[in-house]
Amino acid sequence: MQEIQDRPQAGDQQPPPVASSERTDISSSKSNSSSSGAPVAPQGRKNVLSPEPISPSTGVPVAPEGRSVLRSPFSVLQTPAAALTLGTLIRRGAAYLTRHGVPAAEAPTQAEILAEEATGFTRGKLLLHQADIPDTAVVDRLREMLVRVAKGEPLQYVVGHWPFCGAELKVAPCALIPRPETEGLVERILRHPVWRTARFAADIGTGTGAIAIALALAAKAEHRPVEIHAIDLSPEALNLARNNAVDNGVKDLVFCDEGNGASGLAQGRYDFIVSNPPYIASADVDALPPLIRDREPRLALDGGPDGLDVLRQIILDATQALRPGGRLFLEIGEDQGLSVRRLLERAGYGDVVVARDLAGHDRYAEGSLP
Ligand code: GLN
Repeated sequence: MQEIQDRPQAGDQQPPPVASSERTDISSSKSNSSSSGAPVAPQGRKNVLSPEPISPSTGVPVAPEGRSVLRSPFSVLQTPAAALTLGTLIRRGAAYLTRHGVPAAEAPTQAEILAEEATGFTRGKLLLHQADIPDTAVVDRLREMLVRVAKGEPLQYVVGHWPFCGAELKVAPCALIPRPETEGLVERILRHPVWRTARFAADIGTGTGAIAIALALAAKAEHRPVEIHAIDLSPEALNLARNNAVDNGVKDLVFCDEGNGASGLAQGRYDFIVSNPPYIASADVDALPPLIRDREPRLALDGGPDGLDVLRQIILDATQALRPGGRLFLEIGEDQGLSVRRLLERAGYGDVVVARDLAGHDRYAEGSLP
């Protein structure tokens, strides 16, 4: 395991407050994961949860000036006899993340999510087992994941799966991490009358398969034989989407195909088409936080010079693929409401709606063919 240079700071001597924020969207849907088999950290190495270097002679953490800091809240991690409780590990993990640039408001929740993953506990169980002393394999697994997050890897990729509209999706750097805004897009479809009678649908730029799989789960719950075509340019993403459809029990409803936008779809067939396309202007992609810009696929983000390249193409191609009266549902950038409304109207769509996300930003645009 490659290690991160800790940067001792004044606050290091005080553990942060106990985690208080809850991530409600995943509390009931985390899957178990085995943490056995994780390598045990070699003795005498600097502990990644400790801000202090380890003395090569004693194996005891030392302060930079050489003074023993046995009383440091982090140093006892080195001492097997003084094993730490799960609650303490989570608090120290959160402090470690904060020291490495994770916002203090998010670090406790992130540490809890990683602890759920390392222990295989659900959120509820994690809270009940705060006083447990986890075995070495669990501690090592937690430490390894904390280091990856501290090095700038998105939490979701480190965990390897993420919830979306009741589905649990594998996530990987070949596909965009599913976002809560996109859950809003799915909810809009499920509330629209076109959903009640829909038989054929397409999800353009499916990525992890998030939208297609969430819709398929809803159709399955309603015992409706909906066929959802999930299209993506990226073979890796399609592979992921296929696996996710299998894992979520909807492989009979989701059909994954390589394709460029909506151009390859059968003509006049679809009751609705949905897409969360790349809609960020190229120059703005460069200005995104590194966590997104350097870690998530640019193909899933970059919508060309004005961010509208892919939206324009989908709006045009969907006029061919939708049946008369069929509806197009899009996720858009917060400054694109007016432009996308115009694009939809010029392409002949009626009943055009631009709607906001929970943060109050324009995020959704829809229109129906006459
Ligand atoms: N449809 C996927 C999602 O909503 C991927 C979107 C994209 O890659 N732009 O998460």
